[in-house]
Amino acid sequence: MKRRINIQLIGIAILSIVLTMVVILLVYYGLFQKEVFRELQTVAGILAVAENEDLSGKAADPNSVTYRMIESLSEDDLRVTVLDAQGNVCFDNSVDYEQMTNHATRPEIQDAYEKDEGYARRKSGTLSKSAFYYAIRLEDGGVLRVSMEAQSLLNVFVTSMPTLLIVGLSLMILCMVVASFLTKSLVKPIEEMAQNLDHIGEVEVYSELSPIAETIQSQHEDIVKGARMRQDFTANVSHELKTPLTAISGYSELIENGMATQEDVVRFSKEIHKNATRLITLINDILRLSELDTGTSGTEFEQIDLYESAGVCASMLQFSAEKHDVTINLSGEPCQVYANRQMLEELLYNLMDNAIRYNEPGGEVDLCVEKADEIVVLTVRDTGIGIPKEHCERIFERFYRVDKSRSKKTGGTGLGLAIVKHIVEHFDAEITIESEPGEGTTIKVMFPPHS
Ligand code: ADP
Repeated sequence: MKRRINIQLIGIAILSIVLTMVVILLVYYGLFQKEVFRELQTVAGILAVAENEDLSGKAADPNSVTYRMIESLSEDDLRVTVLDAQGNVCFDNSVDYEQMTNHATRPEIQDAYEKDEGYARRKSGTLSKSAFYYAIRLEDGGVLRVSMEAQSLLNVFVTSMPTLLIVGLSLMILCMVVASFLTKSLVKPIEEMAQNLDHIGEVEVYSELSPIAETIQSQHEDIVKGARMRQDFTANVSHELKTPLTAISGYSELIENGMATQEDVVRFSKEIHKNATRLITLINDILRLSELDTGTSGTEFEQIDLYESAGVCASMLQFSAEKHDVTINLSGEPCQVYANRQMLEELLYNLMDNAIRYNEPGGEVDLCVEKADEIVVLTVRDTGIGIPKEHCERIFERFYRVDKSRSKKTGGTGLGLAIVKHIVEHFDAEITIESEPGEGTTIKVMFPPHS
């Protein structure tokens, strides 16, 4: 890329230099041409005023002033031709005029007869060379024509070529140095950014690059965070799976070795069953989370009465509530939410299950479904153990538990609220938590209005 930018910059510079030189040459050539015609005009004017007879006679007097003047003009590559009123050549300083044909049809001569003067830049019929012509009508009706070879103009350019080349080359070298400097200053911060992805904020970049640097930085941080989370998750999963599997393996080994009495066998089998159930729950939760992560489920949305769903869920958990000596109260009114049924039931189940499991005997779980300003609010309030402030923010993380042993004892996987958080995001809803240790916890889910 660096090479490409460099080459392109140099290319643009060379093109600009060449174009500028061509334009300068053309302008200069135009000016020069004008200058040549003006010179021809002046010379012709002077000669015309000079003694006419010196030239009009077929044999010009070599001693006359005009003739001597023309001699010196010849040395300057100026050709002077004199024609009579019919276009016959009666004098020419560079060609034997007696051999010359009638010139009345030459454009500049024609113009001179008609309009007193004429210009032309054309190939000479006599000399077969390109030339500039200026013709002026004389008092006796004849025409005086002065011309200059165009070749001499080209010579001017050929002679100025070395200077032009030196200037052009110097400019090109300067452009190459500037282009390489520019490319370096353009690319250097990008290279530094690429080498310092972890500390991209510390790299000095120009203002136009700052937004890109910020985006890359935040994306890089996200990637690193994601990778760390996945690593943590894998480590946690392995750890969580290991505990019940070790228990299952240990108990079954004892039974296999015949080291367990009949009574122990029943007890160990119970433990094996409990741990196997735990493994299944855990694996189900992990699979569910991964489904939610990849977005492969919950695409079908419909209008659901949240109040009714909360009632169904409450009766499903009635048995567990009785087991924990907890009373469930449902209040509110029928409210429609636009949601995926399976996900909504999972959300209700997880929140209510926690409210029962982390409750005290004789405690209560209050469920309320109500509508406020088009927003449907689900409130799950319990009179349980509560959550200390510093843990409140983190309980939605995977495998984060405040009281690990209580969670495990009550069949928790540490993934319930992580699943809830995912579902809430899927519904574009909002979740808040308020809790006081020893007093209880209130979790609210606000469902957005559906148009
Ligand atoms: P678990 O399967 O351990 O219940 P969750 O993700 O559902 O996992 O909850 C994470 C942690 O948050 C729980 O281990 C528990 O410590 C705490 N928690 C969740 N809900 C409540 C609640 N209603 N009252 C007290 N603590 C709670």
